[in-house]
Amino acid sequence: MSDCLFCKIAAGEVPSTKVYETEDVLAFKDIDPQAPFHVIVIPKKHIASAAEITPENSGVIAKIFEAISVIAAENHLDGGFRVVNNCGEDGGQTVGHIHFHLLARRNLAWPPG
Ligand code: 5GP
Ligand code: ZN
Repeated sequence: MSDCLFCKIAAGEVPSTKVYETEDVLAFKDIDPQAPFHVIVIPKKHIASAAEITPENSGVIAKIFEAISVIAAENHLDGGFRVVNNCGEDGGQTVGHIHFHLLARRNLAWPPG
């Protein structure tokens, strides 16, 4: 996807502060953090949203959650954390490349509103 911001970040065409990277997954700091620790975790290959997950592409979602577990351990998120996926307009998704917010280091309200 040539016009996708997170594809460009995955390709290194747009700079980001990388936190963790594997062959398939990239995690980088959110530019507008909503918590003291706020990282975005993406598949390097474009998937538009959670509504586009299929049996063919779902393997990388497991890899994203494996990455989240490693990132949490490496960053000592011992108090816990929240993983958020916003999907579509009503879900508040603003970047059309599936991503998971990893938020931590503050008490996160529930329900989120
Ligand atoms: P969404 O609203 O789609 O769930 O989340 C998109 C997230 O991407 C937002 O939290 C926003 O701050 C972040 N974001 C948008 N543009 C950039 C950017 O250029 N670089 C980084 N690091 N984060 C971005
Ligand atoms: Zn993309």
